[in-house]
Amino acid sequence: MVTLKEVLDQSVREGELYEKLDRGFVRCFACGHCCPIPDGQVGVCKVRFNRGGNLFVPWGYAAGVQCDPIEKKPFFHAYPGALAYSFGMLGCDLHCAYCQNWVTSQALRDPAAVSPPLQATPEEMVNDALRLGAKVVVSTYNEPLITSEWAVTVFKEARAVGLATGYVSNGNGTPQVLEYLRPWVDLYKVDLKSFDDRHYRQLGGRLQPILDTIRRLHAMGFWVEIVTLLIPGFNDSDDELKRLAEFLVSVSPDLPWHVTAFHQDYKMTDPADTSPTDLRRAAAIGKKAGLRYVYAGNLPGQVGDLENTRCPGCGELLIGRYGYLITDYRLTAAGSCPACGAGIPGRWASSFGGQITAYPFLPRTHRRSNLVNLGV
Ligand code: SF4
Repeated sequence: MVTLKEVLDQSVREGELYEKLDRGFVRCFACGHCCPIPDGQVGVCKVRFNRGGNLFVPWGYAAGVQCDPIEKKPFFHAYPGALAYSFGMLGCDLHCAYCQNWVTSQALRDPAAVSPPLQATPEEMVNDALRLGAKVVVSTYNEPLITSEWAVTVFKEARAVGLATGYVSNGNGTPQVLEYLRPWVDLYKVDLKSFDDRHYRQLGGRLQPILDTIRRLHAMGFWVEIVTLLIPGFNDSDDELKRLAEFLVSVSPDLPWHVTAFHQDYKMTDPADTSPTDLRRAAAIGKKAGLRYVYAGNLPGQVGDLENTRCPGCGELLIGRYGYLITDYRLTAAGSCPACGAGIPGRWASSFGGQITAYPFLPRTHRRSNLVNLGV
């Protein structure tokens, strides 16, 4: 029986996001940990490693492929209704006890996390995305920063056939990885998990690199949306949410902020599930701080108008939503309000082209498939 680690040790290529140090060490720049790694050792993420003074990185597989409505990522100001062809690899640089993708993110830390990798080429994945009618290809499910070399290779294929690209990320970036991604990534979602450095340290990270990344992403012209999973008793005090929202306003009041409902998962089973009242309270704090686009997620139909996009100038309904379903679309071809003409920030198509699905589904082509189980 081949172990997952043995398979992944073979599914690699020399990385691009690193420098060589003295005594055979390398320093990786793919995430904010910036690990110095001695020969024969792995980084904190456990999927990038030093062999003979060179950094090797994940390559040539997908640990999960799914067709998601783009609203699930969530991107609300980018091609509403579009199909987002979503792929992940394995591993993460954090270890959040409530991770909803722990089967892929914690694959090399937790023996219970088993998600067999499938052999994949960028061409196969992009052809599949086209066949299924996707408009966007998204790296998600594990932390995409730590597998950026592979994501960029897939995105180069995607761009060549006119598809947009996106990252769904914890935002623990570095200036080097953002420069590397800038030519190839259009949309970038950051999961801002807390505004308290002590909480981030519990999850295996630090707050400051994430704040720096959000500021840089916006300044560099990525389309950025922010998500905060609201966990009762962990990150939902009025004071913490106020400071978090004020930080976002200082970057741009046009950053969409999604506050989403927690449900008990993985190793975090103590806090209560988030209620609609909790989401409304957090959203009100965001709006009072000056954010123009605040959304409440994961509780469809229970949060009033907080699933919809309204014009911040005149209040006109622009995009109606129920969960991932687009129920109304009134933006003009130029992406502005039809009532008062105000421009609405985002990446808009010239018209709403309908919605292929409001629910995630597994691409049948992958079940038949080109993608070969690597035999774990
Ligand atoms: S991706 Fe992050 S955790 Fe992994 S080796 Fe590089 S710096 Fe370390």
